[in-house]
Amino acid sequence: MDVFQHPDYYLLDELLSDEHKMVRDATRDWVKRSVSPIIEDYAQRAAFPEHLVKEMGEVGLFGPYIPEEYGGPGLDHISYGLMMQEVERGDSGIRSTCSVQSSLVMYPIYAYGSEEQKQRFLPKLATGEYLGSFGLTEPNFGSNPGGMTTSFKDAGDHVILNGAKMWISNAPFCHVAVVWAKNEEGRIKGLIVERGMEGFTTPETHNKWSLRASATGELVFDNVKVPKANILPGRDGLGAPLSCLDSARFGIAWGAIGAAMDCYDTALRYSKERIQFGKPIAGFQLQQKKLAEMITEITKAQLLTFRLGQLKNEGRASSAQISMAKRNNVDMAIHIAREARQMLGGMGITGDFSIMRHMMNLESVITYEGTHDIHALILGNYQTDIAAY
Ligand SMILES: Cc1cc2nc3c(=O)[nH]c(=O)nc-3n(C[C@H](O)[C@H](O)[C@H](O)COP(=O)(O)OP(=O)(O)OC[C@H]3O[C@@H](n4cnc5c(N)ncnc54)[C@H](O)[C@@H]3O)c2cc1C
Repeated sequence: MDVFQHPDYYLLDELLSDEHKMVRDATRDWVKRSVSPIIEDYAQRAAFPEHLVKEMGEVGLFGPYIPEEYGGPGLDHISYGLMMQEVERGDSGIRSTCSVQSSLVMYPIYAYGSEEQKQRFLPKLATGEYLGSFGLTEPNFGSNPGGMTTSFKDAGDHVILNGAKMWISNAPFCHVAVVWAKNEEGRIKGLIVERGMEGFTTPETHNKWSLRASATGELVFDNVKVPKANILPGRDGLGAPLSCLDSARFGIAWGAIGAAMDCYDTALRYSKERIQFGKPIAGFQLQQKKLAEMITEITKAQLLTFRLGQLKNEGRASSAQISMAKRNNVDMAIHIAREARQMLGGMGITGDFSIMRHMMNLESVITYEGTHDIHALILGNYQTDIAAY
C-alpha cells in the first residue's frame, strides 16, 4: 500500500496557491490509485502500462500549460512542475511519458505549428487518444544533435524523409512523432510524422536496466513521404528543439524531487520500524546523518525549483537556470536513492520497495535531456561566455 507523505521542511506549501495544491493533490491521488499498485510489476517485466495513457489524459497530465482552446487545462508552470513531481514520485518512466507528450510533442506543435496542425493534433494528444514521441537523438549524434544526418528532400506537395533516430521514449507505441531533420540547405526543421506513413517504423529497444516501464525505441525513416502540411512552420534551426528541451528539463527538475521524496519517505519509515541492536536503526547517529542530509538536499531542490517556476511563469527562466536545476536535482535524487537503499539493507534491493527502481531509473534521467556533464558545460558557457563543447 502506498502510504507516502511528502516532506515540507520549509513550509513551502504556504507559497503555493490553492490551485497548485489542488493539482498536486489530485495528481498524487491518481498516482496512489493507478500507478503505485501496478508499477513494480510492469517495471520487473519491462512492460509499458499502455492503459495509463488515456488515464493520464483524463487527469490533465498532457500539456498542462496548453490553453483550453487546444484541449489543455491552461495551468501555470508551477502546476506543471508539481504534476511532474508527483508522477515521478511514482515512477520516472511514467513521468517520461508525460514529459515527452507535454514538452516535446505538444509544446513544439503549440509554439511552432500552424493553426491547422494545432487543431488537428493538440486535442487528441491532450486526451491521450494520440501518444507522441520526439526524435532528436541519432546513433552518432547524442550530446551534439546539431550534427544530425536525418534529412528530407523537396518533392512537390510533400518531402521525402530518410534517416534514423535512437533512444526515443514512447516510440514503439506512438501515433505521431515530432522529428527534427535537415532540409536541403542543412537547416533543421520539425516534421510531424504519423504512424502508417509508408517507410516509417519504430523498433523497440530491449534489455534496459533503467526506465523499464517506459517504452524506448528507434524511429526509422526509409523514403517516408511527409506532406508539407506536416512541417512545423513557426521556427527552424537547432534553437527550436532546444527550446522544447528547456520545457522538458524544467519538468525533470521537479520530477527528480518526487523520486527523492519517495526514497526519503520510504527510508525514514523503514528506519523507525527496523530494530537492530535492540532499537530502531533510526536511533543510530549514522542513520540520522543520512536522513538529515536527505531532507536538507530535498529542501534546497524544492526552493530552487519553486523560484525557477516563478521565473518560468514570468517568461524569464533562462536555459542556463533550467540546466542548473535539472543537473542539481537529478544528481541530488540519485544520491538520495543510493543512501536510502543502504538504509534498507538487503530489503533495499528488492521490488518490495520503490528505491532500487528509482535508483535505476535515475541513471537514465541523469543522462537524457542533456547529460550531467553537458549541463555543467552549459553553466560554464553562461558564466564565462566561452563554449567548452
Ligand atoms: C531511456 C532514454 C530515453 C531517451 N529518450 C529520448 C527521446 O525521447 N528523444 C531523444 O531525442 N533522445 C532521447 N534520449 C537520448 C538522450 O538524450 C541521449 O542519450 C543523451 O543526449 C546523450 O547522448 P548519447 O547517449 O549519445 O551520449 P554521448 O553524447 O555519446 O555522450 C557520452 C558521454 O560523453 C560525454 N560528452 C559528450 N560530449 C562531451 C563534451 N563536449 N565534453 C565533455 N563530455 C562530453 C557525455 O556527457 C557522456 O557522459 C533518451 C535516452 C535514454 C537513455
